[in-house]
Amino acid sequence: LFVETPLHEGAAIVLEGAQANYLGAVMRLKPGAPVRLFDDASGEWLAEVADAGKRRMTLAVTTRLSPRETVPDLWLLAAPIKKGRIDWLVEKACELGVARVLPVLTQRTVVDRLNLDRLRAHMIEAAEQCGRTALPALDEPRPLREALRDWPAERMLIHADEQGGAPLADVARPGPAAILIGPEGGFTAEERTLIAAIPAARGVSLGPRILRADTAAAAAVAVWMAAAGD
Ligand code: SAM
Repeated sequence: LFVETPLHEGAAIVLEGAQANYLGAVMRLKPGAPVRLFDDASGEWLAEVADAGKRRMTLAVTTRLSPRETVPDLWLLAAPIKKGRIDWLVEKACELGVARVLPVLTQRTVVDRLNLDRLRAHMIEAAEQCGRTALPALDEPRPLREALRDWPAERMLIHADEQGGAPLADVARPGPAAILIGPEGGFTAEERTLIAAIPAARGVSLGPRILRADTAAAAAVAVWMAAAGD
């Protein structure tokens, strides 16, 4: 379970609302029951239920189970898409092990506002479900040009290009990397020129079919993780 409060040995964690309801009413945990917690800073901890009230649950933190996980240094740059689809995209990015999600606004982006709190809640749920103890960073949306400005030479920029390129599995290698996915309408010629001018950029293919942006993002991250993630 993710908690905002910093965890340490002996900490008393008070849960209310949905989390208290989940542990009390859904899981029916009684005093003494073990619970695993993480805070996205210090790793994963073992706690036990100290007090189980109807709307409030107090947990006593006992021992650290593991330090904060290190995930592969992979960023995902993707243009915002419709609500249900972007929710799915961030959930899958978190499960697959992405370190940072950077929403980028492109010339054909149709959605330019994102509810970052909602997206972060989806990431937390995904992390809890897959046993991840380090949440991905989630940036404010910014224009593509700005996101690519001063792009570091050592971070490979993998441009998923439906018009073709090398197979991603052949290009992926361990080390800093970022996957760039276009909006449903694709990148404009001007944006393609901007991307191609970056020395660290590589155009890659995800196969002969045109995938929806959310499918392309999950497929690209999965291939990169299988070929280069650890
Ligand atoms: N509007 C474009 C068209 O009709 O040709 C399609 C854009 S596609 C729906 C959205 C994004 O997914 C693309 O910008 C690209 O980044 C990625 N994508 C989709 N299919 C891909 C493929 N087969 N290989 C690489 N990237 C792909």
